Amino acid sequence: MSGAGRKPVVEVRRSERRRRTVSAYRDGERVVVLIPNQFSRAEETEWVDRMLARLAARDQRIHRSDADLAQRARQLASRYLPEYGDVAIPASVRWVHNQNGRWGSCTPSDRTIRLSDKVREMPRWVADYVLLHELVHLIVPGHNARFWELVGRYPKTERARGYLEGIAAAAQITVG
Ligand SMILES: [Zn+2]
Repeated sequence: MSGAGRKPVVEVRRSERRRRTVSAYRDGERVVVLIPNQFSRAEETEWVDRMLARLAARDQRIHRSDADLAQRARQLASRYLPEYGDVAIPASVRWVHNQNGRWGSCTPSDRTIRLSDKVREMPRWVADYVLLHELVHLIVPGHNARFWELVGRYPKTERARGYLEGIAAAAQITVG
């Protein structure tokens, strides 16, 4: 979470060669926004705001390592499954490329969890749902009432399931 809530220093660069395209990237603490030279001041302001919002939205998504995933698992377990202690902490959790049509999977016998790297590109609140879903499988292997009761402690469960179902409808992927 770098610079959350702080307005970054913006450097606008105008280019004669640009006609319509606008792009933005981070350069240390600054954000550089490239705009066509013909843009008015109003267009410049509008596009700078738009590109800052876009960068902020990208920051909300996760591009994290297995170590970050393990840390997030511990955070979610202590927040939503506190009475289970170490039972809700996986022995290993990692991003994997091939998930055989699943967003995530759990092997309770060796306490390992795998998340599809497709989930990595999703908003954090959706990734958190997938991770918590698999953490609950460490406690309840199947999808019974007790399972959904525990998963339901996560307030965005229904919203996240809807999000994933929307994508899965096209791709035939399910949370394992
Ligand atoms: Zn499941």
